[in-house]
Amino acid sequence: MKAIIVRPGEKGAVLKDIDLKENVGENKVKLRTLRVGICGTDRGIVTGKLSFTRAPEGFNYLVLGHEGLARVEEVGENVNLKEGDLVVPVVRRGCGKCSNCKIGRQDFCETGEFIEAGIRGKHGFMREEFVDDAKYLVKVPRDLGELAVLTEPLSNVMKAYNELVFVQKRSVWNCEDSTFGCRRATIVGSGPIGQFFAMVFKTNGFDVTVVNRREPNQIEEKISKTVGYSFVDTSKGLEDVPDSDVIVDTSGYPSAFIPLLKKMKRNGVLLLFGTVGGEKDEIYSDLITFFVEYNISVIGSVNASKLDFEQGMTLLSVWKTRYNGVLQDMITKIVKPEETQDAILEKQKGSIKTVIEWSK
Ligand SMILES: [Zn+2]
Repeated sequence: MKAIIVRPGEKGAVLKDIDLKENVGENKVKLRTLRVGICGTDRGIVTGKLSFTRAPEGFNYLVLGHEGLARVEEVGENVNLKEGDLVVPVVRRGCGKCSNCKIGRQDFCETGEFIEAGIRGKHGFMREEFVDDAKYLVKVPRDLGELAVLTEPLSNVMKAYNELVFVQKRSVWNCEDSTFGCRRATIVGSGPIGQFFAMVFKTNGFDVTVVNRREPNQIEEKISKTVGYSFVDTSKGLEDVPDSDVIVDTSGYPSAFIPLLKKMKRNGVLLLFGTVGGEKDEIYSDLITFFVEYNISVIGSVNASKLDFEQGMTLLSVWKTRYNGVLQDMITKIVKPEETQDAILEKQKGSIKTVIEWSK
């Protein structure tokens, strides 16, 4: 079968014929890949910058791709799925040793011995077909269809949001009418993850501002109007950024979010989600004093549980109706498998999410 393979540590991604000899046994499912999304992690792997990527044991290459959508072709015994069902595979697979992994919370693995499809130690989904364990497959609701390719990036946002709400139980954080209507969230970055954070916070009643160091492009303008959040260009100053209960950084650049901390309200949360190498900034003692005196929590969040995938799919179904056309607009480009490397490496102005179509 055709697959996009990378050699961890080296640059480039190529379309090759490979034979993995995977069999459909008990609890296993054979899947036909429909669509795979591309994200910054793929870019990090293909440019050779992501240090923790590695091939599966016994292989000198890795099949790329972790934002999968596939159709069930064949099921083994004890599988509660049927031919034709659409599924999204979970990315991280647990170590089998720690308490979190034993209860399906490998997103909180304590040993670090987990593997991740298309990233480290396990082949990903950029290939014509694959066999997977049924327990790692999330069934797509019928009404969602191919938009379910957005589930994986959204699942990580769901986890981060769920963590935030959990941490904020440390004080009374709901508003007087029981909702979150009096709370403000400011999101740094307007890529797909930033857009998803904006939608999740809006759906949960927050007042939302998305910031970037430039004007919104046409698609971002349309999404912000439809979803109902404000977009602030912070290259012109921070005056229009409101005081916030939550600041979410999706950029990974300290210079993008540290200046915004002066807008943080008491008992606020800094949610860190973006990762990028290279940029340096200082943590100074006045900032530490501010964190202490204001009860500021800092949450770093990565990956997601199967439950977060399911919750993400439910929201996608809601948004498909509520935010008419916005999810389709977020998929700004659909490419063929042979165009994968170019699609990963190019940074197109105005693009949000590129998706590879493997099969219809
Ligand atoms: Zn573990």
